[in-house]
Amino acid sequence: MEKIYDVVVIGGGPAGYTAALYATRAGLDTLVLEKFSAGGQMTETQSIDNYPGFDEGVDGFTLGMKMQAGAERFGAKTVQTEVLSCELSTQPKKIVADSGEILARAVIIATGAGHKHLGVADEEKLVGRGVGYCAACDGMLYRGKTVAVVGGGNSAAADALLLSKICAKVYLIHRRDTMRAEKVYHEPLMKAEGIEFLWNSEVTELIYDKRLSGVKIRNKQSGEESELSLDGLFISIGRSPVTAAFGGQIALDGSGYIIAGEDTKTSIEGVFAAGDVRTKALRQIVTAAADGAVAAHFAEEYIATL
Ligand SMILES: Cc1cc2nc3c(=O)[nH]c(=O)nc-3n(C[C@H](O)[C@H](O)[C@H](O)COP(=O)(O)OP(=O)(O)OC[C@H]3O[C@@H](n4cnc5c(N)ncnc54)[C@H](O)[C@@H]3O)c2cc1C
Repeated sequence: MEKIYDVVVIGGGPAGYTAALYATRAGLDTLVLEKFSAGGQMTETQSIDNYPGFDEGVDGFTLGMKMQAGAERFGAKTVQTEVLSCELSTQPKKIVADSGEILARAVIIATGAGHKHLGVADEEKLVGRGVGYCAACDGMLYRGKTVAVVGGGNSAAADALLLSKICAKVYLIHRRDTMRAEKVYHEPLMKAEGIEFLWNSEVTELIYDKRLSGVKIRNKQSGEESELSLDGLFISIGRSPVTAAFGGQIALDGSGYIIAGEDTKTSIEGVFAAGDVRTKALRQIVTAAADGAVAAHFAEEYIATL
């Protein structure tokens, strides 16, 4: 007979590995499915200063590895695989991954959020060839070069500041005339050498041969079009939930987040949503981890009713 796990956790970020830690400590046979490596979005930042217990901060990669090791210490297992689709309303629930089919009594969805795309032609094609979404990951590839950051929020501000320390020139392209980023970023941005703001501007076209060589920009107020020569373009316009594998089965809100309250229960019995992927007020590591613990608690309660 095919093996049935008590709990399958989809996603190995802070929500996923905390869920796995709590589920496995509750005596549940627990498997984590992660398509890349432990840590999720945390791996994109070198310094986390607001996760309790690390008085001098911690880098996201290390924290992710520690969360994985913490869950595995009690018996949770990880398989590196991408979940492609699921049948969530059956019992057991069926998960189709690129490594094969997996059965579970309860499923905890912790797939987090991914980069929002700009939506200009050939954006996907140029990822890794001049177009990027993570300055902390790829910034060093542009040492001494000219880059642009698109966006006006905290991540765009942080990316522009980081790149200003590496690159010769950084354009910050924003469609409004002020940054949405928190005040803490304003002064450093204004003081940073080599950052030039292009307000009320939007990227309309990517210019490339084999790699990106520039962008076309339209000024939203004047309608004027111009070209900007660039070695790299970082798109920092926010995040959207990762739910493609559950499409059509589970209730989502208008922005695509899985509808779930503080109890992490979704529209399907025995399926829980933890972390950035669910409807919630604050998307942070500490709240993702808290969700993971709650989801494991209710998964245990659900399994006891079967
Ligand atoms: C640059 C950056 C800096 C940040 N800094 C901070 C900070 O300082 N403090 C803070 O509290 N928060 C910070 N955050 C936010 C924080 O990282 C997130 O709130 C948190 O990681 C959410 O955790 P999660 O487990 O819900 O999802 P994620 O961290 O997004 O993890 C989801 C995981 O699921 C995997 N996955 C997705 N789809 C599939 C699939 N189909 N199959 C298998 N696996 C899948 C992904 O690969 C990923 O590993 C930062 C985020 C970014 C991007």
